[in-house]
Amino acid sequence: MQLIPTYQPLPVAFERGEGVWLWDSQGKKYLDALGGIAVCCLGHAHPEVTEAICQQAGQLLHTSNLYQIDLQIALAQKLTQMSSMQQVFFSNSGAEANEAAIKLARLYGHAQGIDSPNVIVMEGAFHGRTMATLTASANRKVQAGFEPLVPGFIRVPYDDITALQNIAQNSDDVVAVLIEPIQGESGVRTPNADYLEKVSALCKQNNWLLMIDEIQSGMGRTGKFFAYQHHAVEPDVVTVAKGLANGVPIGACLIGGKAADLFQPGKHGSTFGGNPLACRAALTVVDIIEQQQLCQQAAARGEYLFAALRDALADNPMVQEIRGQGLMIGIELDRPCAELAKIGLEQGLLFSITAERVIRLLPALIIQQEEVDLIIERLLACLDEYAGHY
Ligand code: PLP
Repeated sequence: MQLIPTYQPLPVAFERGEGVWLWDSQGKKYLDALGGIAVCCLGHAHPEVTEAICQQAGQLLHTSNLYQIDLQIALAQKLTQMSSMQQVFFSNSGAEANEAAIKLARLYGHAQGIDSPNVIVMEGAFHGRTMATLTASANRKVQAGFEPLVPGFIRVPYDDITALQNIAQNSDDVVAVLIEPIQGESGVRTPNADYLEKVSALCKQNNWLLMIDEIQSGMGRTGKFFAYQHHAVEPDVVTVAKGLANGVPIGACLIGGKAADLFQPGKHGSTFGGNPLACRAALTVVDIIEQQQLCQQAAARGEYLFAALRDALADNPMVQEIRGQGLMIGIELDRPCAELAKIGLEQGLLFSITAERVIRLLPALIIQQEEVDLIIERLLACLDEYAGHY
């Protein structure tokens, strides 16, 4: 095979999808509880998104950021309105959105005469695979072999406000904190209820930018359009990607507060970033989430799923913890469980295993209650089979 083996795909290829369902090349039907890892928030082949993409493809795919793109302006307006931010830079992926945030933090530092600005990042973080974002990420497997890493990051434990306070007291060259409101890749880790508020207050006191990575947790998944909106926090930067256009590649770095107006012409760019096709798809997605009140639906379905999982797994000796918010749920087992994803295929259920022993569920926001029931039924069957073998 001529593919560079950066992935080890499971032995299945999907041919078509509809809502939360996928069909493989043999015609077998699967319940998708992963949604392309939080990408397909409106499910597969959503008719309105499909229509918007087809119409836009027939009209205009791409021009260039050398010219004004009205759909980009409209999307920026929508996203700033949803987030209380002021400006948007469009990229093609989450890593690029974070890369823009990291560059911005450095501009912010230099503007204050800090020659070697530092960004505080968290243990357990995942922010992408470009050189700066893999450095910001905490996973050694992601970094190993790519040294020298990028300087200018200080790592602290997640959900530990004292560690941040210590840095505030002992360091003059910190300019920003980059943080996920819920850490997805490291196992759906949710911090204490007041942690983000404390981080926000500390950033304010110290004049640090608060940069929130909503790439996995955003787009309504946790029950609010952005997960940080569950808390009284005031970010200066918010990054989003994944679900933004339901599968058409796009990312965005939203900027406000102290961070506004730092990027000037020539300071950053992207050939494809925010092209008409991606923006049209994203505008359609955001409109649907808003009009169909899908944040509220995600909250309700998530609560139901959570309660049902707690109930169904209460006596399962393998299950250590069930955590998350809305439709971003992690079930931590007492053992590594990569094999479970294969058993899931046999049972017709798609989920991922992250951080070695956490089953991660990220179903589409449009999921119906009977489909949630089916996730639980199939997951229980997977766990039973797994317990019998491992
Ligand atoms: N940030 C978070 C929180 C993510 O979960 C991811 C991807 O999983 C990224 C950044 C990187 O996004 P992308 O893969 O689109 O570059």
